[in-house]
Amino acid sequence: MLPPGADAVVVRHGDVGVKSSSVQSDMERRLRENLQAILDDRGIPGDVEREWGRLLVRTPDPDAAADAAADTFGVVSASPALSVPAELRSIRGALALTARECYDGGAYAVDARRVGDHDFGSHDVNREGGDAVWHAVEQDVRPEVDLDDPDVTFSVEVRHEEAFVFVEHRDGPGGMPLGTQKPLVALVSGGIDSPVAAWEAMKRGSPVVPLYLDLGPYGGPDHRARAEETARNLAAYAPNFDLRLRVADAGDAVERLGDEVGRTRMLSYRRFMYRVAERLAEQVGAVGVVTGESLGQKSSQTAANFAVVDRVTDLPVHRPLFALDKQEIIARAREVGTYRDSTLNVGCERLAPNQPLTAASMESVRKDEPDDLFAWADAVADGIEVSEGVPA
Ligand code: ATP
Ligand code: MG
Repeated sequence: MLPPGADAVVVRHGDVGVKSSSVQSDMERRLRENLQAILDDRGIPGDVEREWGRLLVRTPDPDAAADAAADTFGVVSASPALSVPAELRSIRGALALTARECYDGGAYAVDARRVGDHDFGSHDVNREGGDAVWHAVEQDVRPEVDLDDPDVTFSVEVRHEEAFVFVEHRDGPGGMPLGTQKPLVALVSGGIDSPVAAWEAMKRGSPVVPLYLDLGPYGGPDHRARAEETARNLAAYAPNFDLRLRVADAGDAVERLGDEVGRTRMLSYRRFMYRVAERLAEQVGAVGVVTGESLGQKSSQTAANFAVVDRVTDLPVHRPLFALDKQEIIARAREVGTYRDSTLNVGCERLAPNQPLTAASMESVRKDEPDDLFAWADAVADGIEVSEGVPA
């Protein structure tokens, strides 16, 4: 719900506020840039200003702009607002207008905050504003004031010359502005898990470089197309970063693992994958790898097997979904908007062996692993292509 004539969005950020002032300033600058980029990318007219530990968007389309802000990493909440001069009379008028449009009964409260020099205090705004709401609606509904547990809260933020009136908080993702951490290579298969994992890393500030291993006959064109869609979904959250899908041709290697390796096949496959990711990380200046693995989800994702596969790379392997159940991951995927594409049926071949080891030893993995597996991974990494299917 927005006040009639709303012309702004008040945008709050979270974690950013706990840093030193220079770090905070840098983070707020990033956040401003990122939000502006999302507005521009969606064709929403608006200018993002930095203000008093939060951002303000001036826009003729505060509804769409608030949604854009609610998709920007680092944003805690966004409120479409009506701006008026910071005078009691104007604030009363704005509250009366808003009440007529947005209030149809139940308990209400006016909640004012104020920064700057004014000849009134926030309690004056609460009192006068509460009165203005009452008079605006008393002929149509029976108003009731409840300051402790209101159904509708009319918020007023008075800042120096201006006051902002709003009734709604739209939740953002929270986290940190994208770009405040170094990049990570995200292994993206296009399944349900990996896009969510990449998104979680982005939420905490790391731009991701999505890497897809094309599995040749084990994957197929639809499998790859699904990964492309996934990268496109993620890129919508970060139009000012390069989230084009990087594609490594792993078909021959996977086929060979299928032919030559038995019960530890998936572990060698994962070690191969991490090695390719590590090489890409070197190429693009990334400092870690993100995967959609979660503890116990598959035989290759046991605690014991993580210990074996991680030893192939010096980079940290981050698993944001480590402790989540599949149902929780699915719920996240729906929120993030990657679920639909992730569940397209792509009919890929099964690479997993019938009786995989759930607690493989390093020795058993090495014993069956082709000697030149990692030389192969390095060569595959040298041939990584940037997919043009997803615009930069
Ligand atoms: P997802 O886990 O994304 O739902 P999945 O279930 O098909 O896909 P898993 O076998 O669970 O994949 O693989 C675990 C993780 O390994 C994935 O979350 C992803 O990070 C990575 N991964 C698997 N296959 C690929 C691939 N072909 N290209 C890139 N990364 C992959
Ligand atoms: Mg999975």
